[in-house]
Amino acid sequence: MIELPMSNSGKKITLNPSKIIAVGLNYRDHVKESAQFLTKVELPTEPVLFAKTPNVLAGPGQPIVIPAHTKEYKFPEERVDHECELAVIISKRGRHIREADAFAHVFGYTCFNDVSHRNIQKADTSGWFRGKSFDTFGPIGPVIVPHGAQGIENPHTLNITCKVNGVIKQSANTADMIFTIPALISYISKQLTLEEGDIIATGTPAGVSPLVPGDTVEVEIERIGILKNQVIAE
Ligand code: MG
Repeated sequence: MIELPMSNSGKKITLNPSKIIAVGLNYRDHVKESAQFLTKVELPTEPVLFAKTPNVLAGPGQPIVIPAHTKEYKFPEERVDHECELAVIISKRGRHIREADAFAHVFGYTCFNDVSHRNIQKADTSGWFRGKSFDTFGPIGPVIVPHGAQGIENPHTLNITCKVNGVIKQSANTADMIFTIPALISYISKQLTLEEGDIIATGTPAGVSPLVPGDTVEVEIERIGILKNQVIAE
């Protein structure tokens, strides 16, 4: 459970989502670079969804912990990557939400880091669950900006970057998403019920790169802020 302040009032909001639904391959240039991590990569014709469990959540300033037990696999090159993403926090329960009604289900936005263990992601042919859901593999924050706030009336206009130790690794704009936020909310709610507090991580642009203990990673989204975390070894 993580508490984040609202950007407008400072009021603390407890994030205790029933689920975190992440979207894979939602930026074209990231689809291309993903050929190195995945066995099959094509431009998606409908959203690629996977789950991250709520144990991944870490607040601003909390460490990203690289697990120790994965060393037992003796991967030639163990690789844990950052993925900067815009997170959407859901305001109310919904099923079969129409695209035209989708923003009425958005409480607000924040930064998210979809930390990913690439070797485990690739090894688990049954799905991405394990490689995406280690404890602390979902830093979130630093604030929640409410939908409709000034400058964020349209969330598809925001510059998004990721820096590691001050060096820019990812730089894009949320306009580049393949499936828009209304399209994602409509598609996801056709599959299952979205609950108040659920989080949708909307995908990452190109430039993902490895993190090692000692690194500082910063996800920055225009008009939201900077989510900063340090990487440590378990
Ligand atoms: Mg991702």
